Amino acid sequence: MSGVRIEAVAIDGPASSGKSTLAREVARRLGFIFLDTGSLYRAAALALLSAGAVRMAEDDPEVVRILSSLDISVRPDPSGARVLIGGLDVTDHLRSEEVGSLASRISAWPIVRKTLFDLQRKLALEGRIVMDGRDIGTVILPEARLKIFLVADPEIRALRRQKDLEARGDRRSLETILADILDRDRRDRERLLSPLVPAPDALHLDTSRLTIDEAVTWIVDHYR
Ligand code: C5P
Repeated sequence: MSGVRIEAVAIDGPASSGKSTLAREVARRLGFIFLDTGSLYRAAALALLSAGAVRMAEDDPEVVRILSSLDISVRPDPSGARVLIGGLDVTDHLRSEEVGSLASRISAWPIVRKTLFDLQRKLALEGRIVMDGRDIGTVILPEARLKIFLVADPEIRALRRQKDLEARGDRRSLETILADILDRDRRDRERLLSPLVPAPDALHLDTSRLTIDEAVTWIVDHYR
């Protein structure tokens, strides 16, 4: 895309490719804000779970009612943005597998993407931000000065996720995690709205055999 460039880094990629870990550190080194946009989809999922929605279907009147009145906001914080629902900080409740799995399903629904678009776009346009997600370089901020598309072998992503879960006391077999990752990848790639695809001008970075520091340095060097 030609024209206006915004001082921002867009990092997209599949589940457990290291997006948030890298985005947080890149933001720290550049002195930018960091926003993990997956946390917004997780917040929408948490809102549905907390409201006790029974039939998690896009056309269910109760689901539509909850999503239409959803009040998600973001408060910048040095450790990454805090996410609020109705003014209440829910950041620490977003990482469970239950929330992640529902977020993956509902992120294909137009009502969810529409609701979260304005919030993300507004923050993105302010610049000096590193955003990670699935559609940042293609839909949310095509004007970002640097766009990165991360890839990593599924088996390596599964191992990383297993370690993350274990650190939170959640033990799962590698096969279960790998199957879940492949399932989420498929849903993200095949959905009609904002599918996971690299922007035409995104730089591809395979993190399978890189340390965090190597990957962060690569991104920061390209930005500068
Ligand atoms: O990255 P994370 O796993 O936290 O994201 C939760 C879910 O939100 C993902 O499974 C993905 O389907 C969805 N998502 C999205 N677009 C984004 C960020 C996340 O569809 N920009």
